Amino acid sequence: MVKKRSGKVLVVEDNELNMRLFCDLLGAYGFTTFQCRDGAKAVEIARKELPDLIIMDIQLPEVSGLDITRWLKDDKKVAHIPVLAVTAFAMRADEQRVREAGCEGYLSKPIQIASFIRAVEALMPKEPAE
Ligand code: MN
Repeated sequence: MVKKRSGKVLVVEDNELNMRLFCDLLGAYGFTTFQCRDGAKAVEIARKELPDLIIMDIQLPEVSGLDITRWLKDDKKVAHIPVLAVTAFAMRADEQRVREAGCEGYLSKPIQIASFIRAVEALMPKEPAE
């Protein structure tokens, strides 16, 4: 049995299989998920739902996840929300670009469940002790 977590996660991802995988995993751990397939709407949804964490695919059609992250970090209402970037380009230079755009965390695809959950937990605001 896994310990149930709480918290809201916005997943910005255009690939249907990855969206399902991320949301199923997060849901199994107790997180509430919001889905965004159109990067142009990510800031609007973040402002409305105020998630505790945003998972950001970097390769999106229309607009890059890096640009969306810059918009988020320029917006006082949502700038504090940690962004976990997920990218298929598992290269060192990409990690640097991702960090420079303001992402607090970075994972390369294909993701591994254990490291995915570890990265999510590391960035989630700590729950008050019971
Ligand atoms: Mn993508």
